[in-house]
Amino acid sequence: MFDAVVVGAGLAGCVIAERLASQKNWKVLIVEKEKHIAGHCYDSRTEFGLLIHRYGPHLFHTNSKLVWEYLSQFTEWDYYQHHVQAFIDGRCVPLPFSFETMDLLFPKELATRLKEKLLRIYTFNQKVPILELMKQNDPDIQFLGSYIYDKVFKNYTAKQWEMLPEHIDSMVTARVPVLVGRDTRYFSDIYQAVPRNGYTCMMENMVNHRNIKLILGLNFLEIGEVRDHTITIGGKTFDGPIYYTGPIDELFGYCFGELPYRSLELKFQTIQKPYYQSCATINYPNNYDYTRITDFKHIHPLDTSQTTILIEYPKKFKKDENEPYYPVFTDESQNKYQEYRKLVEKYKNLILIGRLAEYTYYDMDDVVEQALKTVEGIGYGR
Ligand SMILES: Cc1cc2nc3c(=O)[nH]c(=O)nc-3n(C[C@H](O)[C@H](O)[C@H](O)COP(=O)(O)OP(=O)(O)OC[C@H]3O[C@@H](n4cnc5c(N)ncnc54)[C@H](O)[C@@H]3O)c2cc1C
Repeated sequence: MFDAVVVGAGLAGCVIAERLASQKNWKVLIVEKEKHIAGHCYDSRTEFGLLIHRYGPHLFHTNSKLVWEYLSQFTEWDYYQHHVQAFIDGRCVPLPFSFETMDLLFPKELATRLKEKLLRIYTFNQKVPILELMKQNDPDIQFLGSYIYDKVFKNYTAKQWEMLPEHIDSMVTARVPVLVGRDTRYFSDIYQAVPRNGYTCMMENMVNHRNIKLILGLNFLEIGEVRDHTITIGGKTFDGPIYYTGPIDELFGYCFGELPYRSLELKFQTIQKPYYQSCATINYPNNYDYTRITDFKHIHPLDTSQTTILIEYPKKFKKDENEPYYPVFTDESQNKYQEYRKLVEKYKNLILIGRLAEYTYYDMDDVVEQALKTVEGIGYGR
């Protein structure tokens, strides 16, 4: 009855299904284990009407015109520039660390000297990894790199990944940038926005197609089996393509062991004030058990006397207890993932796509781009 089956109605699954249905005129079945679509992008309104992101704050940003124009068929946008602050030494300062942050944290003379020295070495608005600052000979620049490492990065990372600060690979530090400029926006992509009526509504518009049948609340593994180079659904061999967006280890019965993830405990609270804090997200690198607090009123403005905040506590991932959020990349986990990939190659009609199936961290635009390419036959994921 169906030309293709898509497992999972997250962003990857919805894009795949929409393209197959609308461009190839295929009949597509989507099987989703949750009672809602949109996966980790799932959002819904509180009792007082505020749109909140149920799996953590999701801000859409991309430099890809293709991705932007594709998604714009299914939603109107509210233009939104994300701002993040960090609570450091008793005050909130803007991130990424920039001239603005220096002016707030350092004595005027030191801040001026640092800015002048940075501008002598780098160009205005350049993003420089702190590892590079730490390697410079100038003691002031070295101080700046070490300060950011200690106050912004080290404890946050240790909390997020549950590792001792001294075990944090210095190469990871390389990704933490200092902005040689005054742009306080968290992202600098060309397109930045949030869907006016939410991600879930956007994806409902994608899958609302006569060629798509969506079954919610059904785990594919209850009806499907992947064994001996054959995929069966309901006991019958299925020869059409299966686009699988769930966890790769679960698909193969954890035969090589579980792939490690970090999880989060998300605590939502409604606050009887129009706003809880001065910007959308404040990071708490030091001193607290949580990593960040998000006030959704800044993301989806609404004229009400309450707001809803989300406090994020990093947790160990335990299968059947909580959600897999971030893959833990180690040599061991990568080797294990490659073992699973080799199994996938034995199934000619099995295509793995998305953050869980490809065991990677994808931003939303990466997922959309990958899904579009997959359907065009340009690439079949990693
Ligand atoms: C806390 C957090 C914040 C983020 N913020 C941003 C952001 O600000 N900007 C950004 O661009 N990206 C952000 N992301 C990344 C974004 O969430 C992902 O890029 C996106 O959700 C990936 O979509 P996906 O379809 O691959 O996975 P998912 O959204 O996880 O979808 C997979 C779907 O498959 C279903 N499924 C799994 N197994 C089965 C099965 N056996 N049978 C049936 N269904 C199954 C799941 O229930 C799920 O619905 C964030 C991620 C996290 C964790």
